[in-house]
Formats: sequence, structure tokens, C-alpha cells
Amino acid sequence: MCIFCKIIAGEIPSTKVYEDDTVFAFRDINPQAPTHILVVPKAHIPSVAAIDGENSGVVAHIFEVIAQIARQEGLEKGYRVVSNCGEDAGQTVHHLHFHILGGKPLALEMA
Ligand code: AMP
Ligand code: ZN
Repeated sequence: MCIFCKIIAGEIPSTKVYEDDTVFAFRDINPQAPTHILVVPKAHIPSVAAIDGENSGVVAHIFEVIAQIARQEGLEKGYRVVSNCGEDAGQTVHHLHFHILGGKPLALEMA
């Protein structure tokens, strides 16, 4: 099992922010902003590159969850949603995840 599958299964501890039948969210262990949350599908999807017609429903749901978490976390001044896909983007965990970053003005470093 990958590290995020183990977190979802409760085999590795995490600070849970949200959970439902298909989605899990927890605080990043190495936060890059005052609020840094990872939102993941419970199903193991390796990255954005593996999103297809069979699994995109959970991705749509993840974005509803992101909006809900952002409201709960008081990010009304804004936030950034990031998904690193593959080697050039520096993806280190090969289980699809969306970073929610906020709580301060964020530098615009797109590349
Ligand atoms: P990425 O570089 O986009 O693949 O992001 C992986 C993220 O997972 C990094 O921001 C890590 O800090 C985070 N991470 C790795 N292990 C854990 C863990 N056990 N609990 C919480 N976050 C983690
Ligand atoms: Zn996994």
C-alpha cells in the first residue's frame, strides 16, 4: 500500500480534516503555508494523468469538498489548489492529491 493509502486506512497517523465514503483530507506534515491540507480520493489513483471517464466522478466530488474545507478553515481571502503530476512537477507521493494552500498572500511561482 502507498503512504496515502495507509493514512486513509488509519495505519499511519494523520490530522484528519474531512472524511466521507470516497474522499479523505488531512494536514500536510510539512506545511508550506499557514493552512496546508491534502485532499485525496480513497481509491488509489496515481496522479492527474490517470484521471479518466471511470474515475473522474470522485475528482468532481473532491472539488466540492475543497470548497467546503476552505469555508471551514476560514480561507475567505483566497487559497490555491495544486496537484503535482509526475517527475517534472516534483510529485513525491504517487497517490492523487490536491494541496489546499492559504492563510497568507501566496507568491506566484508557477514554474
Ligand atoms: P507532492 O510533492 O505533491 O507529491 O506532495 C506530497 C506531500 O505529501 C508533501 O507536501 C508532503 O509534505 C506530504 N506528506 C508526505 N507524507 C505525509 C504524511 N505522512 N502526512 C502528511 N503529509 C505528508
Ligand atoms: Zn495509494
